[in-house]
Parts: sequence; structure tokens; C-alpha cells
Amino acid sequence: MPLTANNPNRKSWLNIPKDSDFPIQNIPFGVFITKDDVVTIGTRIGDYAIDLGALQQLNYFEGIELTDDMFMQDTLNDFISDGKKTWRLVRNRIAELFDVNNAELKDNEAHREIVIFKIEDVEMQLPVLIGDYTDFYSSREHATNVGKMFRDPENALLPNWLHLPVGYHGRSSTIVPSGIPVHRPYGQTLPAGETQPVFGPSKSIDFELEMAFITTDANIMGENIPVEEAEEHIFGMVLFNDWSARDIQKWEYVPLGPFLAKNFASSMSPWIVTLDALEPFRTGGPEQDPKPLEYLQQTGNHAFDINLQVAIEPEDAEETVISNSNFKYMYWSMSQQLAHHTINGCRVNSGDLMGSGTISGPTPDSFGSMLELTWGGKNPITLKDGTERKFINDGDTVIMRGYCQKDDIRIGFGEVCSKLLPPFSKK
Ligand code: CA
Repeated sequence: MPLTANNPNRKSWLNIPKDSDFPIQNIPFGVFITKDDVVTIGTRIGDYAIDLGALQQLNYFEGIELTDDMFMQDTLNDFISDGKKTWRLVRNRIAELFDVNNAELKDNEAHREIVIFKIEDVEMQLPVLIGDYTDFYSSREHATNVGKMFRDPENALLPNWLHLPVGYHGRSSTIVPSGIPVHRPYGQTLPAGETQPVFGPSKSIDFELEMAFITTDANIMGENIPVEEAEEHIFGMVLFNDWSARDIQKWEYVPLGPFLAKNFASSMSPWIVTLDALEPFRTGGPEQDPKPLEYLQQTGNHAFDINLQVAIEPEDAEETVISNSNFKYMYWSMSQQLAHHTINGCRVNSGDLMGSGTISGPTPDSFGSMLELTWGGKNPITLKDGTERKFINDGDTVIMRGYCQKDDIRIGFGEVCSKLLPPFSKK
């Protein structure tokens, strides 16, 4: 199945701003509500949201085998279940329809009015019903930094880390789309120098710069996904802010790992950029030494060159960019994560979400959390408005952006943007 949707020379008859994350070569998938309260599956080209449910009703997907209501649903799970062949056919068809040389939809004003919305006139939803959420810990730099701070600088990486993609099972119930504010959580902490815990709002709220991939139905219980086949089961990727309460984490995480410090909120960007659209941006990952066990060995390029950025925007002040990183720094690839996840026969379903873990680069300005950027609060960051941050303040908005760029083609993710609110109080 050729990937004609990726043709770098294609232009659209829609007006697309220069440096848009969503040129006609992107064609991500999402779910939105229109002004008339209609929920639909859609794509985005430039600053337009395209209603795929309406396109299907108007027969623009004729010839592609789809159930009648495929795009008139409030999640992408069924579409994702249909598999890579269908995703490619649909992306290719959308690319053709909006191609500057195709008059089919361009010259049909009545249809255009039903199908095309301004992006500011729709409200983005969670694109999938996330059944299970797994979070990995796959950035060597991040694991090393955290190991140095919390344990032993001489032995920062635990003995298993270079042999397997460490991960844990999170909760999907508190994953929210970009734009939904998040309350500072309450919890137990052990103040420095004390022997007894106290209860109250967390005093050290952090973000974690992550990306996440969304899977299709990959296996039956008992079956594993070989590492070389894993990418066939990855639909696409999003930006992911895995909010964390460091003081709660420090007290609770022994011996079973993250719990309430992590599951109060995770925010994701609403457009899923397909792995197909990211194809031109493959690159080699870090060298793996020691060589992983055979079931984790892979050939070829399985890292992706995705520029990542984090900014803090205080209330009533302009934003300050505080980190620039890249997804290619990940030590373990998504394929290795999925192969490892299923090597014991664990079942993976359509709409499952797998977080990369915090992505930190090699230099201090590329660290992916406040914990690392301020080194545990020791070196506060000064924002443009002159205020200092050790962690995130109430009223701050954390914004993450990501894009790939090669020659004139830029494929981006838009942003995941969420505001930290004071602790929740019942009205
Ligand atoms: Ca995380």
C-alpha cells in the first residue's frame, strides 16, 4: 500500500499558514464537537477541522471498506481496530480530496460548508477511549538524573535499566485532552527531617515532558508481538504531559513505584499524528550497550526526530520556554517497549496508550521536568516576568509543543496546554 498522502510536493486548495504543524502531508486524526453539538471524527489541515463523518455520508470514501458509521462515533477505537491498510487508504483519499488539482470537493460549495470548520469553532475531545495506560521510563538521561538525586550518584541507573524498558501500569481515568485545567492534588508527604507524614496539598507539582503512542488490537492473551512487527500495531503519537507530585512520589513510591503522585492527571494533545506521517523522520536511536536480549534486538531506524519544547505561562504574563528536547534521545524504541510489554502474553487493545516516560536530553536545557531543570529545587528558573520557579505554581499554564522538520516539510503535533488550578474544594 503506497503512502501517497506523504507526497512532499503536494499542495492543497485550502489556505495553510507557513510553518503550520498541519500541512496536507500530516492528516492526523481526532474527535471534535461542532458548534451545533455534533460529535464527529475528523482531521485537521492548516487551521481547518475536517468532518470525516460528513465526508463519509457524502460518499467521499466510496471504494474504501468502512462500516457505515465509522466516522460518526465519539472515539477512534473502531477505526484504529481496522488496521494499517484502512488508515493508509483513508489518509491517501483525504490527501487526494484536498489536493490543489482536485476540484471534486473544492468546487462543491454546499459540501464544503458541511465538511469544513474553522479550528476555533470546534472543541477537541479525547480522541480514543483509553482502555489501558502504561508509562515507561525510557530516557537514559532522565533515569540517570533521577537516580543521582534520589539514590546514589555513583550507581544512578538500577541494574535492570539497560536490559529492559522499565514501565508501570497507570490509570486511564484521569487522562484529559489539552485545555482541561488540573487541580493541585492533596496527599501524604514526609517533610524533610521529619519522621511522621503530614497531609495537605502537594508543594512540588511538576510536569513530565513525554510523548505517547496509541496501539491497535495487537495480540490475543498469551501471544507476544515480535519486535520487528511492533510498528504495525502502532497507530500514531501524541504529546503527553504526565503531571507529577514530587513530594507525594518521594514518600509513597517504595517499594511498588508510582501511585497517587501520578494518577491525578495526565494531559494529551488532541490530534493523533500517524506513524505513517512520521515515516520521513526516522533516525537511529542511541547505541545500546550492553546488547539487549534477542527478543529486544532490532535492525534499522526506529527512533523519530521530533523536536520538543516546554514553556510556562504565568497568569497574566507572557510564556517562557524552559526546555528544548527531542524524542530521538529515547534509549528504548516504541517497538522495543511494545515487544517487551507483550513478551509475557499481556494483551494490548485498540486505544491503549503507552507513555514514553520523561524525555530528557544530554544537556541541562533539554531536561524534561522541573525536578531536573531546577535539580530538585536547588537552582530555581527565572521566568521572563522576573518570578522564580522551583516547581509549578497555581495559575501557571504548562505548554508542550512538538514538530518534525525536513527540508520544507513540517509535521507537528500542535500543543498540549493545561493550567494548574489551586486544590479542589467542594462548592
Ligand atoms: Ca511519567
